[in-house]
Amino acid sequence: MYEITFLGTSASAPSPKRSLPAYLVQHDEYRFLVDCGEGTQRQILQSGIGFKRLNRILITHGHLDHILGLGGLLSTFMRWEAIEALEIYGGAAALERIHDLLYTVVLRGAKPPMPINFIPLTSGPFFDAPDFTVSSFAVQHRSPDCLGYLFEEKPRRPFLAEKAEALGIPIGAMSKRVHFLQAASWQDATGSVIGEYRVHYADGEIATIPIVYGHSVVDWWFMKGDPLPTNAAIAWNGANERTEDLGHLIQVYAFTWNNPRPDAPIATLDFVSLGKESAPFLMAVTLD
Ligand SMILES: [Zn+2]
Repeated sequence: MYEITFLGTSASAPSPKRSLPAYLVQHDEYRFLVDCGEGTQRQILQSGIGFKRLNRILITHGHLDHILGLGGLLSTFMRWEAIEALEIYGGAAALERIHDLLYTVVLRGAKPPMPINFIPLTSGPFFDAPDFTVSSFAVQHRSPDCLGYLFEEKPRRPFLAEKAEALGIPIGAMSKRVHFLQAASWQDATGSVIGEYRVHYADGEIATIPIVYGHSVVDWWFMKGDPLPTNAAIAWNGANERTEDLGHLIQVYAFTWNNPRPDAPIATLDFVSLGKESAPFLMAVTLD
């Protein structure tokens, strides 16, 4: 989840109620200050977000109303040593102006209190965290190389078709019936085919068993009143910490398939998720 704090939303000059541009974007332990207009320090104090881990600053462009606060911020860091290193991202023209502000006006030959890294950006991704990325893109404004920033969460459940196809579960036996212990993650429309089992007989023939939402599986999170699967039985239920807090159950289902060829040896079984909204999962297979 991202948390955005609007520290300043005025432009060119502050108004009695609005400070100059600055925003804080937080995601997990990461914090990005986007622009740093004059008065940003006071807004940081008033908002209660503090100066800790304020080590990445993204600049949209070099107009003074977006960068002048950096002089005061550096001056404060010179006294408090609140961070170990400062990274300033932006277009080349903006960084040149910020360099002048920090080194010519603020530091005047003094050593910066921490390493200051200027990272020039054009368009494209430039920051990669385990579960999100940050990219810059060009925007039009009365200033050279103006940038916008895009924060994007990475998909949590990438569907790897090759992997799904590759899972051949060895069976090597004849069977009248095959029992699947299964459920699904997230809901889908009743009747929606969310996956399938492919039974590979030793003679090369294949039987396909569709995994149908509402028939052979439903979402493993079960709330009172939710429909049960029409062709599967409740095999187990319980709770985890999260569902216990919410007063829900977690539940898995036993689904039985009657083999039309009980005398033909089965070589392998594929379990295929079709990448729908609801993803089936398989816990065990038994044969009788
Ligand atoms: Zn501007």
